[in-house]
Amino acid sequence: MGRFDCPVHGAAPMGIVCDHIQESIHSREKIDPVTRATFIDHDHPDYGGTRHLFYCKTCSSDYGLPPQNHEFTMDRYSEVYKLGFIPVCWKCFAQLTNL
Ligand SMILES: [Zn+2]
Ligand SMILES: [Zn+2]
Repeated sequence: MGRFDCPVHGAAPMGIVCDHIQESIHSREKIDPVTRATFIDHDHPDYGGTRHLFYCKTCSSDYGLPPQNHEFTMDRYSEVYKLGFIPVCWKCFAQLTNL
């Protein structure tokens, strides 16, 4: 997990979310239930192992992503990331969701 320089929290852990969730964080709005996509790096289990992307219902229906928490292999990561994911402050994200 990388670091994010948050205007509220300072240096904080980073989360990666869809642009809709990022908008909600930006305007400090409550975030609707989110889906977690877990990407598993089977080739490099000791190099971080997994990465996570979080997205909303809109993304799920617009991009055909699974509506429930889901595991992908790491080779799908950049393809999904390119749909419009953005790093955010993990603490802000956690505050505005029920994680
Ligand atoms: Zn979204
Ligand atoms: Zn923050």
